Amino acid sequence: MARPDDDTWDLANSVGATATLVAAARAAATRRPQAVISDPFAEPLVRAVGIDLFNRVASGEFDGDDSALGIPRMTDTFAAWARFYDEYFVQVADAGIRQVVIVAAGLDSRSYRLSWPAGTTVYEIDQTKVIEFKTTTLSKIGAKPTTEYRSVGIDLREDWPGALRAAGFDDAQPTAWLAEGVLIGFLSPQAEVQLLDDVIALSARGSRLAADHGSVIGSAADSQERAQKITDALARHGFDLDYGELIYPGEHTDVAAHLRDRGWRVIRYRLHDLLTAAGLPELESADREGPATNIGFVTAILK
Ligand code: SAM
Repeated sequence: MARPDDDTWDLANSVGATATLVAAARAAATRRPQAVISDPFAEPLVRAVGIDLFNRVASGEFDGDDSALGIPRMTDTFAAWARFYDEYFVQVADAGIRQVVIVAAGLDSRSYRLSWPAGTTVYEIDQTKVIEFKTTTLSKIGAKPTTEYRSVGIDLREDWPGALRAAGFDDAQPTAWLAEGVLIGFLSPQAEVQLLDDVIALSARGSRLAADHGSVIGSAADSQERAQKITDALARHGFDLDYGELIYPGEHTDVAAHLRDRGWRVIRYRLHDLLTAAGLPELESADREGPATNIGFVTAILK
């Protein structure tokens, strides 16, 4: 069944549950002896959502080691993603950028856990229920943002640029954008292009963007079968989520090409680059051809 353009969710269902899943993997990665990331807020956030499967992932009891889930070595994979974008923000800070926008922030806690240069403002956009749940839960455990933080609760298919400006965003300043885990099939191809074009229109010279793109289920004719495999695997592990209903099938926007064609200087990466950069083991040969390799990563600068 196709997704309607105005659907909503919280962190326990639909697209929102995927935010809880990746936060659970970050929680597990944080517990590891030689951790490659530190996200101390992931576990309390996941536990506050309260889904048994994700609690088990967060505690390290279940490592997602089921190839049918489509993500090889889930804890390592999402730790490598998180580390890649943490490093991006170090470069952003070194470049003197003091305005940051994290779109589809989900349970991202970078506004609370990274050390931001003085004068940085971080804006986060996600659906209202998602962003309110995060800020309320973190406030209950006494966590405070480490910089000026402004949350913008709005759907990315609505006039989010207007809401961002109303929150104080200044399009004359260079911005560092992050779109982690959203341009991977959770928006229709048209909504992806609109999102990117809005980002481009709001970006002063010197702005940067980091993002992942593609789709775990790929764009081939068998993508619904692949989605069904993920749905079945989640059900086997005790969580009912129809993955095929979340993902827009078909071709998704090549973010790197879209930006390059509009004058941005772009670098592409693959999952194995991120694992290597994090000092994590390489993918097994079977996984090198697997569904997660449909996802690409990009950093870009508007010179
Ligand atoms: N960036 C976060 C991270 O990596 O931990 C969350 C990634 S999660 C896989 C996908 C996120 O995209 C969810 O938080 C979801 O609410 C958000 N999202 C997807 N479509 C959206 C839309 N139309 N409007 C606002 N947020 C959206």
